Amino acid sequence: MIDMSKLWLYHPKPLPDELLSSWLVRIAHGHDMKLQTFCRVALGKGQDIWLRDIDRQAPDWLIRALSKNTGVGLRTIRRASLLDYKGVLYHRYKWSGHQYWILPLMMVDTSYHHHGMQYCPMCLAEDEVPYFRKRWRVALYTMCTKHQCMLHDRCPSCGGVVEFTRREMGKFSQVDAGLITQCHVCDFDLRNAKVVKPVIYDESAALTWMPVLKMLEGESVDARYDVGFFAVLHQMCKILLAHGQHVYLQKFVADKIGAPEVALLTGHASFENYSLEDRHVVIQLAMWLMADPEARIVDAWRNKAVRYSMLNKDFKPMPQWYRDVVMLCVNWRLASEM
Ligand SMILES: [Zn+2]
Ligand SMILES: [Zn+2]
Repeated sequence: MIDMSKLWLYHPKPLPDELLSSWLVRIAHGHDMKLQTFCRVALGKGQDIWLRDIDRQAPDWLIRALSKNTGVGLRTIRRASLLDYKGVLYHRYKWSGHQYWILPLMMVDTSYHHHGMQYCPMCLAEDEVPYFRKRWRVALYTMCTKHQCMLHDRCPSCGGVVEFTRREMGKFSQVDAGLITQCHVCDFDLRNAKVVKPVIYDESAALTWMPVLKMLEGESVDARYDVGFFAVLHQMCKILLAHGQHVYLQKFVADKIGAPEVALLTGHASFENYSLEDRHVVIQLAMWLMADPEARIVDAWRNKAVRYSMLNKDFKPMPQWYRDVVMLCVNWRLASEM
């Protein structure tokens, strides 16, 4: 039962695929309040809510308070957090630290140090009520299929990170919060960001990738795209970006499909740490392998582009079909040694 007396004056439902943080900003602005003021007045907490990535680490008290004051069910609110991809994109959800497929924000105090919030300018421009989507935090989501355009991961005017929860922070004199679509540094309206057509390198890779993008956009996909698929896909990304003397997989696949070389970052940077442009290339290389893993992974191995030991390095749990692919390499080796 909803207790009507507890409801906030303005209590919209989250929009399709809306991020928790975006919804909370809209609620605050709907009360003509700055976000921090609203959180202090309505939730009894001020800035400390924003010392963490609330879309990854939504505290239970916040979800309960939002439910009580908006009449929206707990489940719906939990679905607005990145926890919703558990069992879809990953087996385990890590509360903190590196979570594969999710772009990090690298928060220091309340500001982000990584361009981990992406957006499609066309989606924002077409929205009746502009809002930020959950899928824009997913590292393999580099283009919008609806608008056939590249996402952006920064303000095109000043290069700043997209941090719509920070628009009013520290600006005490500013009463009006402005628009959620405006850059928090320079006020540029992100809806006016340039629309860039994505480069697609190979048809078979695209045919494997597009259903994943559409799944994140809300369409259903076939059973092939299970959590095991995404685990293997991530392993492919990892090998494509691995340092080492005997890893030529990136070059091998890039030559096949005519993709440019992606310069490796130093240290153990993972796929999620790479730039939007680089991820757009690497995911297509990985999808090319996933389009026909039995033939293409084994072929790469036979051409010495990847070692057998790399294929299953630190990879658990491994889906059976992938175990079989790796076994094919072993069998080939045994056959060639006979
Ligand atoms: Zn779009
Ligand atoms: Zn800016």
